[in-house]
Amino acid sequence: MPNLKVSVIGSGNWGSAIAKIVAENAAENSDIFESDVRMWVFEELVAGQKLTDIINSQHENVKYLPGIKLPSNVVAVPDLLAAVQDADLLVFNVPHQFLPRICSTLKGNVPSTVRAVSCIKGVEVNGDGITIIANYISNELGIYCGALSGANLAPEVAEEKYSETTIAYKVPDPTDVIDAKIIRTLFHRSYFHVNVVDDVAGVSLCGALKNIVALASGFVDGMEWGDNAKAAIIRRGLLEMTKFGREFFPESNASTFTEESCGVADVITSCSGGRNHKLGAALIKTRRPIFELEAELLKGQKAQGVTTAQEVYEFLDRRGKSREFPLFTAVHGIIFEGLDSYALPRILEEIEQKL
Ligand code: NAD
Ligand code: 13P
Repeated sequence: MPNLKVSVIGSGNWGSAIAKIVAENAAENSDIFESDVRMWVFEELVAGQKLTDIINSQHENVKYLPGIKLPSNVVAVPDLLAAVQDADLLVFNVPHQFLPRICSTLKGNVPSTVRAVSCIKGVEVNGDGITIIANYISNELGIYCGALSGANLAPEVAEEKYSETTIAYKVPDPTDVIDAKIIRTLFHRSYFHVNVVDDVAGVSLCGALKNIVALASGFVDGMEWGDNAKAAIIRRGLLEMTKFGREFFPESNASTFTEESCGVADVITSCSGGRNHKLGAALIKTRRPIFELEAELLKGQKAQGVTTAQEVYEFLDRRGKSREFPLFTAVHGIIFEGLDSYALPRILEEIEQKL
């Protein structure tokens, strides 16, 4: 069995937690993987010191995953091309707005035999076109890319509290060394239970769209409407997510939304904890500009739901479909158009008739 070299592209809250998992498994499976796992870090100074130097000397990402020791075989690399050189498998894990630049640097520098897994929760929208992130990576780099998504708040996973995740990986070529079993070996831990499926579109969409629902749930908590209202948002959000999949990605399976960790479970967890929920609640309480609040509350971390709400609304609007997705449209309206969040019950009434 070859010594597969794995590189993680991204070192934020989730990027660092996933690098920890991958490095633990690489070290324990030396017959399959090379022990060292390179982690590309968007270099910055923290208290006057380079973040890569801090990670490589203290084995902790003090800015994005403080208080968690990373295995010593996680090697922080500031140069993107050096981080991926000779890699067999790339794990993409950055806020999705930074991906186009990363891909343009990587383009032409990654052999087509390389395989990838995207842990990114977002979509790429271009006018009335929409692409899941795994396909965007495939198209840009000419490599196969699967998707990992689940009910996985990074700080809990990093503390090794039990969670489940879903990986969509459909081996592109039956002769591939990197098959679904190897992918599972790389990510599965006793505290991080992996289920491998082949619905890349469904898994990717769940991760992206649940962030819009999490913002709505934050609005409900910001208005102090209680748990019944939040359950209503979860139920109706899940219906809208499933409808979106059915309509625009017919290759996705409805069961991925309702049965997998990436679907219903991630909606539940993200509507209780997480950054999108926190930001949604803060927006209602303060009515301050969303990106100002994000910078202040999240200290460099990103809430992907804000950009996704904007992108999904743009896509639906261009297709003349925004009225058919009243919850997604309302979230956009509340954030960007000053729509009164107290109009939510009326908007939710309309959903029953539209789904
Ligand atoms: P994060 O929100 O912690 O983002 C900060 C990261 O962005 C840092 O690594 C920072 O260096 C980097 N960055 C800042 N400016 C940049 C630039 N110009 N170019 C490139 N990188 C830049 O990141 P995260 O939590 O690791 O999120 C990555 C993906 O994982 C997202 O799609 C997110 O939705 C998803 N996700 C997050 C969690 C979680 O709990 N944090 C869980 C599951 C999935
Ligand atoms: P937030 O980005 O809202 O923190 O959600 C993290 C997540 O995706 C949990 O599964």
